[in-house]
Amino acid sequence: MTSHDPTCIFCKIAAGGIPAQRLYEDDDVLAFHDIRPAAPLHFLLIPKQHVASLAEANEAHQPLLGKLLALAPSLVRKQGFDDGFRTVINTGPNGGQEVDHLHLHVMAGPRPWKNG
Ligand code: 5GP
Ligand code: ZN
Repeated sequence: MTSHDPTCIFCKIAAGGIPAQRLYEDDDVLAFHDIRPAAPLHFLLIPKQHVASLAEANEAHQPLLGKLLALAPSLVRKQGFDDGFRTVINTGPNGGQEVDHLHLHVMAGPRPWKNG
């Protein structure tokens, strides 16, 4: 069931092969700070298993997708931000997705932001 793509940068981060500033991790998911933050707080929440994009998701991914979303608020609060946040999932080339491993962007902090 669990899949891993050895060429995928986020699979490498999940496996510890590429370093990242981790802020949360359990058996299913990992959160780490975006290397090019668009906001004062900008982290990515990913499933540890390789799912290329939201376009690949089906009913079987429902618990995993729910978990990613449900974790966002507490992780934002733990980072010391309590005034709202933005969540984004880019999907496919026309959706602006650059890394082909499903990820939820979570951004927070006082505006204006650099992007986003
Ligand atoms: P996308 O455009 O695919 O939705 O977003 C990919 C995000 O991953 C970008 O915001 C980019 O800055 C971030 N990113 C790409 N490579 C790395 C990396 O090696 N480490 C970290 N921490 N973030 C990365
Ligand atoms: Zn992957």
